[in-house]
Amino acid sequence: MMDLTSPGTVRELITRHGFSFTKSLGQNFILSRNALERMIAASGIDSETGVLEIGPGIGTLTQAIAEHAGLVAAVEIDRALLPILAETLSDYQNVRVYREDALKLDLPVFCQVALPVSKRVVCANLPYYITTQAVTRLLESKLFLQITLLLQKEAVDRLCAHPGDPAYCAASVIVRYYATPKLLFRVSPDSFMPRPKVASAVLSLTPYERGLSEEQEQLFLKIVQAAFAQRRKTLQNALSASSFCDRERVQAAIRACGFREDIRGEALDVNDFLCLTEAFLQ
Ligand code: SAM
Repeated sequence: MMDLTSPGTVRELITRHGFSFTKSLGQNFILSRNALERMIAASGIDSETGVLEIGPGIGTLTQAIAEHAGLVAAVEIDRALLPILAETLSDYQNVRVYREDALKLDLPVFCQVALPVSKRVVCANLPYYITTQAVTRLLESKLFLQITLLLQKEAVDRLCAHPGDPAYCAASVIVRYYATPKLLFRVSPDSFMPRPKVASAVLSLTPYERGLSEEQEQLFLKIVQAAFAQRRKTLQNALSASSFCDRERVQAAIRACGFREDIRGEALDVNDFLCLTEAFLQ
């Protein structure tokens, strides 16, 4: 097996294939064996597990996953990486590479075809530009038992934030609706080729089922988006300004939950937003 955590080996491989990095695709390849091993352990991958990897790059994390998993579906957008992946993954019969944009996948259909197992997880070093969209789609799909992602540290802080934290935003609430987020460990910029300008960290998302109906869930998401769309306004004004509810119902819902009249959305946690959702449905 080729050691893809060795900078010399990576340089020789990509030069031989005439590959050059595309910055806009977030191509920073991991070089830390320690980070790979910790990501695999956190994902709970075993021989029964089917793993979705978004953006395999040259196959560094893919190889590590394939050593432990039953099946790996690796989705890579950059056609130029396919010949490299064919070489680096040639020893692994349990890996399939799909040339696709991960954001355009119909996840239920894709998983039915590419990962037809009951235990599915995601383990990926995401291209940072798709973080919010990818995390939202993965969680909304409810297809995965565990999601372990290497992300920009700033994004991890945002997704793990609590009310009162400067990074607290709609995404912090939405993530906590679907899963328990946890910052597992930091990864230094020196652990990548090329070296990114920003710090990175590994995020663990352990999904759980809330048991809400589709209608309740959609209302919950609308309330959260509306509350954070105008952060400087009170919750009452922010929700009244949105299209889905008039002021009287907003006031009644805020009262029913026992919140102060002048409370702002950014002071509420996920349970408070669930209380509001229930109050709107009364
Ligand atoms: N997994 C590799 C590693 O850890 O070294 C590479 C990670 S690199 C940060 C991100 C990878 O995602 C790149 O290979 C890039 O080409 C790919 N990528 C970027 N946008 C993508 C998209 N929309 N769908 C699938 N892959 C994408």
